Order: sequence, then C-alpha cells, then structure tokens
Amino acid sequence: MSPGEGAYPNAGLIVGDAACLVVDTRMTHPQGREIAEAVRQVTALPLTVVNTHGHFDHCFGNHAFLPAEIWGHERCAEMLRRDGPVKRAYFAGRTEPPLSAELAAVEIVPPGRTFATEAVLDLGGRTVHLRHLGRGHTDNDVVVDVPDAAVLFAGDLVEEGYPPVFGDAFPLDWPSTMDAVAALATGAVVPGHGAVVDRAFVREQGDTLARTAEAARAAYAAGRTVDDAWCDLPLPEDFARQALDRAYRQLRDDPPYDPPAVLAARLGVPDFA
Ligand SMILES: [Zn+2]
Repeated sequence: MSPGEGAYPNAGLIVGDAACLVVDTRMTHPQGREIAEAVRQVTALPLTVVNTHGHFDHCFGNHAFLPAEIWGHERCAEMLRRDGPVKRAYFAGRTEPPLSAELAAVEIVPPGRTFATEAVLDLGGRTVHLRHLGRGHTDNDVVVDVPDAAVLFAGDLVEEGYPPVFGDAFPLDWPSTMDAVAALATGAVVPGHGAVVDRAFVREQGDTLARTAEAARAAYAAGRTVDDAWCDLPLPEDFARQALDRAYRQLRDDPPYDPPAVLAARLGVPDFA
C-alpha cells in the first residue's frame, strides 16, 4: 500500500519477562523512531524486531531500531535488497514534503535474522512463533503468533478497511494461505492496516480471495484479456486488474518479480538501468 492510499500500517508490541518484540517499523526513520519511543514508554526490556513482509511501509523504519536484531522471512530480505531502492525512489517521488524527503533519506535495512518456514522466539515466559504459511500478499509473508495471548499479527495477508493488495501477490496461493491463517486465529487478528479483526473476518476475506482465484483461472482458460475479464472479480477495478495480472503471471509460469531495471521502467522511475 502507498502513502495516502488507506491507513498507515499497524505496528505491534509483544512484551515478555526478559525481552520484547516489535512487529513492523513503518516507512521512514522518523516513523520508526516514533514507534521506538512509544515502546520505551511501555518497557525498557531488550528489543527485537520482526518484519511481516518486505514492503516499504512495514520495513523502511528498521534503521531506527538498530542495533536490535531484525527477523523476517529469507525472501523478505531478498525483496528489500532487490526492490527497496526502486520503491524508495518511486514513493519519494510521489509524496509531498516532508514525507518525500524522509523517504528519500531511508537507509534500507533488510532483516539479518531470516528463516524459511518457522522461527520460535523466547521472550521470557512467553513464546512467539514466526510462521510463513505460504505465498499470498507476497512470497515472504510472516504471521506472528502469540498463542498464550491468543493474538495473531497477520501483516497484509489480512486487510481491514481496504481490499487485499495484489501488486506483488500470488492470487492462486493466497486462498490456501488464508485457510492456514484462519486455523491459527483463535482470538484477535491484527491486520496489516486497519482495525483488529477475528477469525470470521479472515474467513470472509479468504472467501473473496478464493472467488478471485477461481475467476482468474476461468478467465485465463477462456483466453480473456485483463481488460475484458477484470469485472468478473469480486474487487474494485484497480485491485481486480492487478489480481488478474498477477494470476496470469502465475498461470504462465513467468518469474514472479521483475529485476530492478524492469521494475523501475514499469513504475516510471529513472536511473535504475
Ligand atoms: Zn504489503
């Protein structure tokens, strides 16, 4: 999601007896510092960070937390290294001061502690599970499961007050990943953006995603173009077009992500040849 489009991302804090964990760091150093200061109003315990996925609005505040350990999926680090500089230039160029200057000044810090499927963090008297449940909003989504509190941080796999965002998504995989999210959602579910939701909400969004995937498969099988078929999807036009683009890319078995120069050309960002 980009600034001005929907709400700013959620951040989270999980406190144990010996350490605390911050979930996502927002999109600039000042925004990251604001979260770090808010955390310090609550606890002075040693701090660790986890990024739910490699999108700028969840990770570009990482620098403000150094030298803390930063956890994330291995492809989250890859995404930030590959796409981060282009996205930084892109969003700096389409926002107003002072945000534009703050974005341009971001030092991209990919997670240094990475994993492929699961990592378990002991915060002292409280265990937190970081789980990659499959591809969905990106190929590196992580949910942060706090079983003793029945809280699940879902990142942008779940969106409240805004449709799911498909720009880097895997629309054909997302429904089964949502089933796995729903299975873990025993209590509060914190979405990537918007208000806290629950399992019923996750199921309902999962149903929209399943209908999206089904419509995309049918449209592809019928040889229909995106222009012709987007209206079959249960999404607003911009989202439906992006979902179809991404689903077709999966069905054609094309590489999921463009190299930086191609991404820059697509976004109209100069100087990334
Ligand atoms: Zn995202």
